[in-house]
Amino acid sequence: MSRRNVVSKPRLSKRPVFGRAIGALTFFFTLGLAFAACADETAYETVSLGQGVYSFGTYAARSVFVVTSAGVIATDPVDAPHATAMREAISALTPLPVRYVVYSHAHWDHAAGGQIFKDEGARFVSHASCMDFWRRHPNPDIVAPDELLEGSGQIELGETVLRLQYHGRNHGDCMLIMRVEGSDVLYVNDLVTPFNVGLGAMPDYDPGEWVRTLEELEADRSWRRMVGGHGVPVAPREALSQRRRYLQALMTAVREGMKKGLRYEALYDSIQLPQEFRDMRGYDLQLRRGAERIFHYYNMGW
Ligand SMILES: [Zn+2]
Repeated sequence: MSRRNVVSKPRLSKRPVFGRAIGALTFFFTLGLAFAACADETAYETVSLGQGVYSFGTYAARSVFVVTSAGVIATDPVDAPHATAMREAISALTPLPVRYVVYSHAHWDHAAGGQIFKDEGARFVSHASCMDFWRRHPNPDIVAPDELLEGSGQIELGETVLRLQYHGRNHGDCMLIMRVEGSDVLYVNDLVTPFNVGLGAMPDYDPGEWVRTLEELEADRSWRRMVGGHGVPVAPREALSQRRRYLQALMTAVREGMKKGLRYEALYDSIQLPQEFRDMRGYDLQLRRGAERIFHYYNMGW
């Protein structure tokens, strides 16, 4: 996907986003894929979410950065063009340096491209388990972390505290979910792409642990908005609940089909979910793949 950089003058909204996200939600439910055809999803955009928190990226890949009084905390550099564009967006807001880069998890499509931040002296942070992944799947475009967390943790910079929540295995086994203390915005990388069913093959997802993690996040009533690693810049918390319900509906439908003796292609062809989920982006393309993935989860224990 080609990307066009429009960050030299970032599109900042002073008070975005809850109302706008609700509007987007309604719009998606109403018009479905028509929205995708209208919006320029390849342009980098920067959206202010308050308290120094910004959502940055394109529909294809998104990160969060946090501007504090003592420097900037960036997250997932994604790739060199994304990291360069994010650095330009940060420079348009503050002359302060990027002091930290936090990896949400180990996957190449989010962790690559951070050299520009390393060159200015940023310290890189990840969960310790990411190192096992990178040893097995090395990528020269990924800057090695300077600091490793064994569980949850936090970064304090200026008056800002960025909490890093570890919920165990879900998508890989080193996912950190982030939130600035006092902010109502959760950064939940690949666990939720708002209003979108995601990749049916569910690469490196453990479906059961994934649902458990989403339920743990839903149990925390103190956040109202979320940023995902792909998709729209920000979404209401309902987007996370919808993804959890979709997964559970798919898992239930596959289990029911298996109880009827259906397997493999006959099973995948039989799966259809309620209308609520059919309106999610990617449903038609990904449902069958998702059914196959969940069948193997129940058939193999994986
Ligand atoms: Zn991932």
